[in-house]
Amino acid sequence: MKIREGQKLLVYTFASIFIGILFGGYFPEWGKSLAFIGDLFIRALMMMVIPVVITSIVCGISALGDVRYLGGLGIKTLTYFIVTTGMAAMVGLSLVLLLAPGDGLMLEAHSVISLEKLNRPLTQIIKDIILSLVPQNLFYAMSHNEVLPLIVFALFFGSTASMAGSIAQPVLQLMKGLQGIIMSMIHTMMKVSPIGIGCLLAGRLGNAGGFDKFLPELWHLSSYIFTVILGLSVHGFIVLPILFKLATRKSLFKFLKNMMPALSAAFSTSSSNAALPVTMQCCLFKNKLSKKVCNFVLPLGATINLNGTALYESVSAVFIAQVYGVHLDAAQLIVIFLTATLSSIGAAGIPEAGLVTMVIVLKAVQLPPEGISLIVAVDWILDRCRTMTNVWADAIAAAILEKTLKDDTQEA
Ligand code: ASP
Repeated sequence: MKIREGQKLLVYTFASIFIGILFGGYFPEWGKSLAFIGDLFIRALMMMVIPVVITSIVCGISALGDVRYLGGLGIKTLTYFIVTTGMAAMVGLSLVLLLAPGDGLMLEAHSVISLEKLNRPLTQIIKDIILSLVPQNLFYAMSHNEVLPLIVFALFFGSTASMAGSIAQPVLQLMKGLQGIIMSMIHTMMKVSPIGIGCLLAGRLGNAGGFDKFLPELWHLSSYIFTVILGLSVHGFIVLPILFKLATRKSLFKFLKNMMPALSAAFSTSSSNAALPVTMQCCLFKNKLSKKVCNFVLPLGATINLNGTALYESVSAVFIAQVYGVHLDAAQLIVIFLTATLSSIGAAGIPEAGLVTMVIVLKAVQLPPEGISLIVAVDWILDRCRTMTNVWADAIAAAILEKTLKDDTQEA
C-alpha cells in the first residue's frame, strides 16, 4: 500500500469512528439500521480468518526451513507470550488494589448472559480447554471458526511437510500461492474498511440505546472503567513500548501509526481473530516485519496472547470482590494473578470471550460467578479496548521476536 493511500485510509477510519459514535449515540434507531452493513464487514473479515491461519502457519513453518528453528522460535514465542501476559495481569492487579474502584459501591446485577454454562466445576473447564486444542473433525473446527485446534493442525501439517522433502514441495508452493492471493483480497477489503468500522460502532451504540441509555451505565461504573482503561494504557503505552525500544530500537511512533488500521479493526470488531487479516497486512506490508516471524507469531498471538484480557480479568475479579465486600489475602491475589494469566491464554480471540473465561478466576478464589453480571452492561465497550491492547501486543511481539530470530541467525 502506498504511503498516501495508507494516510488517507487512516483519516477516513478516524472520521468514520467519530461519525459512527455520534450517529449511534444521538440517533440509536438509525444506528441500529446501520448494524447490517457492520455485520457484513465482520463476516467478510471472518471469512478470511481460517485461510489466513492455515496458509500463514504452514508457509511460516516451511520458510523457517529447519524444524530446529521452529522449536527455538516456538519456545521463545510461548515464553514471551506468557511473560508479557503475566506482566499485564500484574499491572491490572496493582492498579485495582491501589484505586479500589469497587469499595463501597452499590450495583445492580444484569443477568444478560446465561450463567448455567459457567457453573461447571473448575477442573472440567480446564479439561475442556485442553481437549479443545485437538480437533475431532477439521471441517467442524473450520465451520465453527475454532482457531486454536486449526493452529495445532497447521503446526503439525507444516512441520511434517517441511521434513518430507521434495514430495511436499508442490503442496507448499500451492500454500504460498494461496497466501499471496488471500493477502491481496484483504488489501482490497481494507479499502472499504472505514465504512464497515463506522457502521459497526453506530449499530452497537444504537443497540445499547444511544447516549441516553448508555451514558448513565457508563457513569455508574466509571471508576471501574477508568481502572481498566488506565491499566490497558499503562501496559500498551509504557510497558510494551519499553520492551519494544529495548529490543528493536525502531521508531515506536511510526510502528504505531502503521498499525492503526489493525487497531481500529480490533476496536470495531472486538475480536483479535477478526482483526488478524488486517494485523498481518499491517505487520508485513507497512511495518515490513519478516514473513517467517509474522506467519507464525501473529495467528498464534491472536489466539493465545491476550494481554488486555489478562489485565481486564485481574481488575474485574478484584473489583467484584470489592463490591461484595470480600477481603482477598495475598495467597488469593497470587491465585488471581495466575488464573487471569492462564485463562486469558485459554480465551479465544472472539467478542466477550474474556468475560466467560473470567469464571475460572472467580471460582479459583471462591467468588460467585454471578458477580460477572455486575459488569456485563459495559463489557462491550471494554471488550473493544482490551482487544486493541491484544492486537497491539501481538504486533509488538512479532517485532521483538523478529529481532531475536535475526540475532540467532547471525550467530549461527
Ligand atoms: N475480544 C477479545 C479478543 O478478541 C477477547 C476478550 O473477550 O477479552 O481479543
